Amino acid sequence: MADLISIIVPCYNEGAALPYFYEAITKQYNLMRQSSDIDFEYLFINDGSKDNTLSVIKELAAKDNRVKYVSFSRNFGKEAAMYAGLQNSSGDYVAIMDADLQDPPHILSEMYDCVKNQGYDCAATRRVSRKGEPPVRSFFARCFYRLINKISNADIVDGARDYRLMTRQMVNAILDMKEYNRFSKGIFGWVGFSTKWIEFENTERVAGETKWSFWKLFLYSLDGIIGFSTAPLAIASIIGLIFCIAAFIMILVIIAKTLILGDPVAGYPSMVCIIFLVSGIQLFCLGILGQYMSKIYLETKNRPIYITKESNI
Ligand code: UDP
Ligand code: MG
Repeated sequence: MADLISIIVPCYNEGAALPYFYEAITKQYNLMRQSSDIDFEYLFINDGSKDNTLSVIKELAAKDNRVKYVSFSRNFGKEAAMYAGLQNSSGDYVAIMDADLQDPPHILSEMYDCVKNQGYDCAATRRVSRKGEPPVRSFFARCFYRLINKISNADIVDGARDYRLMTRQMVNAILDMKEYNRFSKGIFGWVGFSTKWIEFENTERVAGETKWSFWKLFLYSLDGIIGFSTAPLAIASIIGLIFCIAAFIMILVIIAKTLILGDPVAGYPSMVCIIFLVSGIQLFCLGILGQYMSKIYLETKNRPIYITKESNI
């Protein structure tokens, strides 16, 4: 029997890009069919788009019965869209792709070959250059990857994209991770399995514009750190400990000074600085605690990761 490959495509305001995407992926489908016994299923996840994305998807579904879609009741974010895609996919292999053609479809052949014939559980892509990206963003991205790999045990690869092809077994493992605060780059690494990394040059999106502002990316990286590491909590306690020791030494010094030299008036400005510094650090550490607490809070509410408004599955 032919291998069914599900192609999951999270779409948020991609009305302009989708026709190009569909054309490119269909071309790839026809190409792959010539050499291997495969079938495709396209799973478009409309993540609460505000443009004509849904109607474009419906048009595609009307002329091609391989096109499936799930449409959310509002924008839940790409993480939720990917989860919905994995949950609704029925393929023996599942690929996740962006709608903007930044994930070149021609790599699918190589990915399929790696997973089918070379014994890998997953073939994932990473871009080797960050061409076309603001330098500040690249700089912070590099720092983030260096940091998170130091402090967490999920193997998170610099430049890794969400574009990957996985076996059903790996998909099921990912679906078993039902956490509400999802950080897929971490989840993919955390579940393990053998991954083949395929490198490619960054390409610019075909139409529409990126949904990631610098601020959104920054918050996303914090999510990643909090979701996959408890190091910040340890740092908070270590800072506390260092300050306790420093304070203890200072107390001894002041007592000794008072006994030996009498009782000079302590400096008011230095006092103010110390109060500012110490209360600042206290607030900072409380903030770290708060970040974890807010995640626990959201997690215990046990809310659904996404809400479907309509679908043809
Ligand atoms: N996306 C989504 N929900 C969102 C934001 C983005 O489903 O809230 C999808 C988007 O339609 C695209 C993919 O995620 O298919 C990647 O988004 P984008 O191209 O904006 O990110 P970039 O490639 O710039 O990192
Ligand atoms: Mg993109």
